[in-house]
Amino acid sequence: MAFRDVVGHQRPLQTLQKEIKAGKVHHAYLFTGMEGIGKRLVALNMAKALNCLTQEGDACDHCHSCQRMDKGFHPDLIPIAAEGEAIKIQQIRELQRVIAFKPYEARWRVIIVDGAERTTREAANAFLKTLEEPPPWTTIILVASTVETLPPTVPSRCQRIRFNLLRQEEVGEVLARHLCEEEIHTLAPLAGGSPGRVLRLDREEISKARREFLLALSPSIGQRLRVAQELAHREGKIFLEILQSWLRDLIVYREIGEEASLLNYDLTEELRKAAPRRETEGLLRDFWALLQIQGGIEAHGNLQLSLETALLGIGGLRSDEISGSEARQGCTGALFSGP
Ligand SMILES: [Zn+2]
Repeated sequence: MAFRDVVGHQRPLQTLQKEIKAGKVHHAYLFTGMEGIGKRLVALNMAKALNCLTQEGDACDHCHSCQRMDKGFHPDLIPIAAEGEAIKIQQIRELQRVIAFKPYEARWRVIIVDGAERTTREAANAFLKTLEEPPPWTTIILVASTVETLPPTVPSRCQRIRFNLLRQEEVGEVLARHLCEEEIHTLAPLAGGSPGRVLRLDREEISKARREFLLALSPSIGQRLRVAQELAHREGKIFLEILQSWLRDLIVYREIGEEASLLNYDLTEELRKAAPRRETEGLLRDFWALLQIQGGIEAHGNLQLSLETALLGIGGLRSDEISGSEARQGCTGALFSGP
C-alpha cells in the first residue's frame, strides 16, 4: 500500500508528500484524529515513501525497502506501542539507546509511536529532548487520538497533522476491502466516520445488537429492562452507539430532510415514519443525555445501569417528563414506529 491507495485524508497526504519531495521533513510529527481513521497507516506509508528505492514522494510497494517495511522487518522502522496499559519510561530509554547509532541502511529512520496518548507523564518528559532534537535522518511520528493526556510540551515540539473523520462513502470504500456487501450494510452506519472502529468489532455480536435495538424500542418497559440486562453481557456499548446514530439520524432527517446523509440508510423507511413524531429540541436533549450516559460507563463502569438509563430515559419515558399512560405508550412510538 502507498499514499495513493489511502482513502480520504487528502490534505494531510498532500502536505506530507510535498515535504518529502522538497526534502523538508520535520524531525517530529503528531498525527491526531479519531481512532480507526487511518493515521497509523499514513505514518507507515510515510516511512515507506521516505525510503522507497524507486519512487519519489510515495512508495512503489515492490522494492526491497517497501517490502521489508510492509512485513515489519526493516531495522530502521521502529514501532513503539503501549506495553500493557501505557508507553513507559523504560521503552523510551531503550529507544534513545538504539537511535544513538546511525540508521542501519535506510535514508530515513522512522519511529512510529502508536497510541502516543497513552505515554506516561514520566516517559513523555524523558522523551522531550529527543522530540526536540532527534539524531540526523530520524523522524518521529506520534500517532494519537487525543492530546489531552499529553503534557503540552509534547505537541509544541511536533509538526501537528490533523486527520478528519472519513465521509460515509469513504468509509464504505475502506470497508469494501475487508467485508462482504451485507456486512458493510450492517456495519457502515456504526462507523461514525471511522472504518477501523467497526473492523475491530465482533461482527456477529453487532448484527445481534442491531436486532436487539429494534426490540429495545418496544413500548413495554419490562421488555426494555430485559434487553438492557442481556446487552450488558454482550456488546452493550455498541448498542448505545446504535441508539446514538439513530437519534442523530432523526435530527438530520427532521432538519435537513436529506436521506443521503443518513447513517442508518438501511432503515430509511422507519426513520421517515418516526421523524415527525418527535420535536428536534427533545431529540437533541436525548442525544446529549446519551453522551453523558456513555461518559458514565467510562467513569463508573456500570454498563447495565447505563443501558437501563438509556432505554428507559430516552425519548420521554422519564417520569418527570410525561406520566402514566403516555409513558406506557412509550418513547418507542415516538422514536421508532415498530416493531
Ligand atoms: Zn519502494
